[in-house]
Amino acid sequence: MRTTQLLIGDQWVDAATGATSETMNPATGEVIGQFADGGKADVDAAVDAASDAFESDAWRSISPDARGKMLWRVAELLEENAEEIAALETLDQGQPAFVSRNISLPLAAQVFRYYAGFATKLEGKISPVSIPHQLSLQHREPIGVAGLITPWNFPLDIAAWKLAPALATGNTAILKPAEQTPLSTVRLAELCREAGIPAGVVNVVTGGPEVGKALVAHPGVDKISFTGSTAVGQEIVRTAAVDLKRVGLELGGKAASIICDDADIDAAVMGNLHGALFNTGQACGAFTRFFVHRSRADEFVSKLAAAANALKVGPGQDPATVVGPLVSEDHLNRVDGFVKSGIEQGAQLVTGGSRAGGALKNGFFYKPTVFTEVKDDMTIAREEIFGPVLSVMPYDDLDEAVARANSTSYGLVGVIWTQDLQLAHKLPPRIKAGTVFVNQLPLIDPGSPWGGIGLSGWGRELGSYSIDEYTETRSVFINLG
Ligand code: NAD
Repeated sequence: MRTTQLLIGDQWVDAATGATSETMNPATGEVIGQFADGGKADVDAAVDAASDAFESDAWRSISPDARGKMLWRVAELLEENAEEIAALETLDQGQPAFVSRNISLPLAAQVFRYYAGFATKLEGKISPVSIPHQLSLQHREPIGVAGLITPWNFPLDIAAWKLAPALATGNTAILKPAEQTPLSTVRLAELCREAGIPAGVVNVVTGGPEVGKALVAHPGVDKISFTGSTAVGQEIVRTAAVDLKRVGLELGGKAASIICDDADIDAAVMGNLHGALFNTGQACGAFTRFFVHRSRADEFVSKLAAAANALKVGPGQDPATVVGPLVSEDHLNRVDGFVKSGIEQGAQLVTGGSRAGGALKNGFFYKPTVFTEVKDDMTIAREEIFGPVLSVMPYDDLDEAVARANSTSYGLVGVIWTQDLQLAHKLPPRIKAGTVFVNQLPLIDPGSPWGGIGLSGWGRELGSYSIDEYTETRSVFINLG
């Protein structure tokens, strides 16, 4: 049982109201932690602390080398405490241990190291201007106080994607983790302090949606970076319109995977299965709609269903587990509602379709579920399910497949399976998505941008693209006349 507080300035404190909430292990339904349930007063205090730190000499005049060193040290501390933090992520989020240990934890450390390097490479420009006797210089400046609001599916990684570039570029930050999974973010903030990042530069306000709303509405917050649902992203844009604060949005997805008639079906089955069920389908880039050439559809469906059935469903702590629990009972009921709608609307259920019972009955486990003959207008083909539900949709002609893959308001990820080199180059530009994978599982690398178009959001995280997200460009004219 862990008890956590808010980090405001140099103090770990309770919520101003004294309120607390509980977080649970989704594999058992047991309470594993109690966290301070912050509110508007706590956000006000955190914004004051972050604004003071932004203006302070301790942060503003710190050398790029020293800033980079601190971020590098956070990466080292993540690695030194890897076992403990990965176990915490599995406990709070439900992630299978192979995900928390081999992906979430190393990726968070890599992201800090990647942006540690950027701290010393934020170069400016001299632009040629036509006005005589003028020198036009451009500098990158930090934006100010960044409110970083994260979801529950990859709490540590998504906090790292936001915090590391925000700090590398000289901003100060307030982290607001999801109320279902606050523990690893609080731990990350502890490591930031241990790494020597000055007080007030990193703050954490745990709590529910009210904390996020207060951050977005606060005039002292200069930038919001949000990862979460599209509906909340839209609400954030409406609120942020009042003072036109900078907003970055990583929202939902409904990735289509096109399996061409020449695809290596066994590779496509394994790649799509794991692309769909990575973190139990609770991934914005999860592969969800499988457009399979009709000539290969029966083979694909039967192999996919057999492989899905063979996967070990169980608690994340079990190293053999591939499919862990869903994050909460509410979310499990939501996923089950989608599955029921698929059956009612006439999709053919091939396997799964219900909560897992037996020894798993107290946790929030759902059997990997495969539908075939899914029509484009069915709810399961249109809405983001965020669970272990795979919809196979046979097609006859490649142009038809591309048009159907693109007939969604989301645009985060697209996938192509083909052995034809020309198609591998020709199809990706036709797919409406921020990232296209060819013969590939969903991959995330600190050096490669991530983000969507349409209802999947605004802007790009990771890579050098994040530097743009966290800086303003200042132009200076010097009169040389
Ligand atoms: P959510 O939108 O319900 O909540 C996300 C965060 O926003 C939480 O911290 C929550 O407390 C806070 N919040 C809720 N209402 C708010 C409001 N009105 N104003 C400000 N903050 C508010 O999302 P979720 O259920 O935690 O996460 C699942 C969603 O996240 C899915 O839609 C998924 O696709 C998306 N996601 C996207 C990416 C990406 O990179 N595109 C990555 C991971 C998850």
